[in-house]
Amino acid sequence: MNNVYVIGHKSPDLDSVSAAISYANLKNQLNETDIYKPAVAGEVNKETKYILDKFNFHIPEKIENLSDKKVILVDHNEFSQIAGAGEGAEIVEILDHHKFNFSYSQPIEIIVKPWGASCTIIADLYEKNNIEISQSMAGLMLAAILVDTVITKSPTCTEIDKDVINKLAEKMDIADWHEYGMEIFKVRSDIADLSDEAIIKSDFKDFELKAGKVGIGQVETADLSAFDSRKDSLLNALKKIQEEESYHSVILFLTDIINEGSQFLVISKDASSFEKTFETKLENSQVYLSGIMSRKKQVIPKLQSELD
Ligand code: MG
Ligand code: MG
Ligand code: MG
Repeated sequence: MNNVYVIGHKSPDLDSVSAAISYANLKNQLNETDIYKPAVAGEVNKETKYILDKFNFHIPEKIENLSDKKVILVDHNEFSQIAGAGEGAEIVEILDHHKFNFSYSQPIEIIVKPWGASCTIIADLYEKNNIEISQSMAGLMLAAILVDTVITKSPTCTEIDKDVINKLAEKMDIADWHEYGMEIFKVRSDIADLSDEAIIKSDFKDFELKAGKVGIGQVETADLSAFDSRKDSLLNALKKIQEEESYHSVILFLTDIINEGSQFLVISKDASSFEKTFETKLENSQVYLSGIMSRKKQVIPKLQSELD
């Protein structure tokens, strides 16, 4: 089989799934083929299911072991985030919007932009190649960009993202993309039926730092108070993950998209380094940090300077 699997990171978020579907479709159209297959590296989360359903897309095939497969990585490039750590895979291309931390034995195609979402890069490629974006594909990509940029409030959101958001909204024929964004975040905020583990892992990334492995989960919510009664059990679940999977630190931050700040829950072998990094004090392993909304721009770089 000469299929090429287009796949996002482990603990797939909406951008990594939408990017896999929309980029596989673009590659198939550009190359007049059907060998590009979207795939996911794990269970898809709630708002992803909601959006796939809304626009009649199937959940892509789940592939946890990439060995002997040709793959295009979308929305990630670090080996710790690749399905099966990329073991045995032939990586042929990367399309991403994260810090680059990848080296490889072959020259490959690499498309990386410092934009707010992988789907922004893909929408731009559709336009540059004169490939029409269908209404449902526009809905899928717009949803991903709105989630990744926190409806344009995140410091990761660029002018290009805003431009693409407006164009996709026009294509979808929706008057108010802000309302569409809130619709998705409401689905995401509805956590009552999710286990602690599912909340933590719904958007969770591993980073290999010199001090050890650090796992960081983020949940953006329109209703932070929904988590109040669950913080203790979430902390216990973080502790369990830390022990069982030998993490230096496991952090969950709950981002309040209305008030633009995040409630941090921190389990660490060295909590004082977290306190030092963010010039704060944890109380019962928790602290609210106003203005912090982005893992990649505001959390990882700081932790790296302290722990790496
Ligand atoms: Mg992602
Ligand atoms: Mg992304
Ligand atoms: Mg995100």
